[in-house]
Amino acid sequence: MDKRRILILGGTTEARDLAGRLGEKPGLAVTLSLAGRTLDPVPQPVPVRTGGFGGAEGLAAYLESHAIDLLVDATHPFAKRISANARAASSMTGIPLLRLERLGWEEVPGDRWTRVASVSDAVTVLGEAPRRVFVTIGRQEAKAFDAAPQHHYLVRSVDPVDPPLEAPDVEYLLARGPFAVENEIALLRDKGIDVIVSKNSGGEATQAKIAAARALGLPVLLIERAAVADDHRAETVEDAVRLVDHLLASFRKRGV
Ligand code: NAP
Repeated sequence: MDKRRILILGGTTEARDLAGRLGEKPGLAVTLSLAGRTLDPVPQPVPVRTGGFGGAEGLAAYLESHAIDLLVDATHPFAKRISANARAASSMTGIPLLRLERLGWEEVPGDRWTRVASVSDAVTVLGEAPRRVFVTIGRQEAKAFDAAPQHHYLVRSVDPVDPPLEAPDVEYLLARGPFAVENEIALLRDKGIDVIVSKNSGGEATQAKIAAARALGLPVLLIERAAVADDHRAETVEDAVRLVDHLLASFRKRGV
């Protein structure tokens, strides 16, 4: 049987889970694409290709040359460039695109959130007076905090921030989720943190810091996502599996 070919743009737990689910289906050939940023990536359940495609045109060329039937963008909610490239490549080629994007966290009683639109807005909202800030936004945009060198920063990321910040009072912590609430509470207490900066990533792996902030009554500066309209969207892996079946049934098999 000629298999239908799916390319999943990954780098998230959801992408890995979806790849596992789709990889079990005998009629599908699934490839997972990773940017190659993580020095020690976790094992994946399907064949992996690694590295950028060379923009939207490069991705479109890959989709054509590998006769991909369906593109799934399961990248992180804050990985904006690859998602824009996926939309552009889909319209260039006519290959359908499914966006799998987990929901953001919702505020509950006890939360002290200030929602901001970007990392640089978060830096501004920290204010002039020195604070002890837990920065948990990944390593790529951490340099933005150099603009406010009066604060003490605890920066947590999976891989080292390189180059490091120029701000004088920075402590680095290398760790990969999932994190437990009691450990997050202990960390916030030990380090005397008085404000947390986080993206509204959603999902369970990193939610513990939000619960820990609530438990300690600490404020959180939460960087929100920009709203984007996609034709085919799923918020859970379960929904994505259903939509993949539906989309593959609706679009014809592509030739090599
Ligand atoms: P980005 O800014 O949207 O993408 C930058 C470039 O990296 C893209 O233009 C593309 O290069 C390449 N790229 C990104 N994701 C790719 C993928 N899955 N496969 C192949 N190439 C990819 O992305 P980012 O924010 O740097 O994130 C990089 C990866 O880390 C993503 O896969 C994302 O899912 C994961 N991640 C991101 C965050 C976050 O907070 N941003 C958090 C956790 C995980 P070309 O233009 O050359 O194709």
